[in-house]
Amino acid sequence: MPKSHTRLSRGLSVFPIAGEGLCFTVRSRSRPRLEHRVELEAYDFNAKCGCESFEFHMEGKLKRGERDSIGDRYRCPHIRAARNWLLDRRLLPQIAGITNGKEKR
Ligand SMILES: [Zn+2]
Repeated sequence: MPKSHTRLSRGLSVFPIAGEGLCFTVRSRSRPRLEHRVELEAYDFNAKCGCESFEFHMEGKLKRGERDSIGDRYRCPHIRAARNWLLDRRLLPQIAGITNGKEKR
């Protein structure tokens, strides 16, 4: 597997797209003009990304039906960044609020 696939998602900024629940713009902090659209619900929640790495190395396999639902084999750093954002900023606080028996605020 090429190195770029195992790189951590640090150095990326994630912006939810208003009105499109599971769609995000992911931008490189060092190259802010380079941004990619990530759709988390695509391919049975594997997600898809507009970057070259995803389209070239991963999307063809997903289109043929391959899945790695508990792994990140078909997820580029942008997809992983968006998933982490959703987990950290939305899901975990929400779940924590519920298990504490109280909603936040
Ligand atoms: Zn990508």
